Amino acid sequence: MHLLHRGAIVVVLGSGSKGNCTYVGDGKSGVLIDCGLSTRQIADRMTLAGLTGDGPLGAPIDAVLITHEHSDHVSAAGVLDRRLAAEDALAVPFYMTEGTRRRVNSKVMPRNVQRSRADHAFRVGGLLIEPISVSHDTPEPVAYLIDVRGTRVGVITDLGKSTPGVERAFASLDVAVLEYNHDLTMLRDGPYPPELKRRIEGPWGHLSNDQAAEITTRAGSRLSHLVLAHLSEENNTPARAERAASAALHSIGRRDVTVLVGSPTEPVQVVATRPTAPVRPTAPVRPARSSHVPPEQGSLFGPSPWA
Ligand SMILES: [Zn+2]
Ligand SMILES: [Zn+2]
Repeated sequence: MHLLHRGAIVVVLGSGSKGNCTYVGDGKSGVLIDCGLSTRQIADRMTLAGLTGDGPLGAPIDAVLITHEHSDHVSAAGVLDRRLAAEDALAVPFYMTEGTRRRVNSKVMPRNVQRSRADHAFRVGGLLIEPISVSHDTPEPVAYLIDVRGTRVGVITDLGKSTPGVERAFASLDVAVLEYNHDLTMLRDGPYPPELKRRIEGPWGHLSNDQAAEITTRAGSRLSHLVLAHLSEENNTPARAERAASAALHSIGRRDVTVLVGSPTEPVQVVATRPTAPVRPTAPVRPARSSHVPPEQGSLFGPSPWA
């Protein structure tokens, strides 16, 4: 794949309870959101998706953004840290909230941890990133919104319920990777122990197809691609999730949105090339990898300095 085109490159490298990892970039800068696959799987699937280049794993990876400490999101952090730094004295930054950092297993803790905080935007190369809070059974989980040269990408998984912040963010996206975890009937009738069923179904668990569909009805006019993510292999099927998403989009008159289903075993590629103006902050923003933009300037979804 030719990487140097305008717009966002989004590849869901793996999705589900066995491991989550998504690549987002613009050809010059790139990030991984979560690293719950093995480093070898990440490298192989990047190659499969054509994410090639001079970096240790191919296409540029300038930072890794961790949503929370569950192993299906963070298990490769230690190995990936060493692999990414192999030819670079500077360790690649791994962004995570303080609540997440305290819980990440020390065996996989990367060396260069940078703090991410909900509603505090920061830059990684040419990408502008904003973490938002989600409701999940960990101390400080976040989802990530990424502005790639004007294309807004959101990776929103591992949440038990919608919140106004999630809906506001979703409405602004061009490309949404949204959790469609379970079919409620399959979960309730399925083999999981009652306690686990309660956890998944509860407000700090995972989104059902119906809950995700409800969020999907908040799609804004910009939405062009929706990737259904983190599907349970026991309590959902791609067909059920897709049916729920399509019905939600049809109910708001949107038949033009491309719906894709994330896979636990192979990369799913989205390339959105919406020709929008490059990000142009009105206030100067330090170009450093870890430059935090104050929230009043930095919210992608409040009064926007990037209009
Ligand atoms: Zn997960
Ligand atoms: Zn989780």
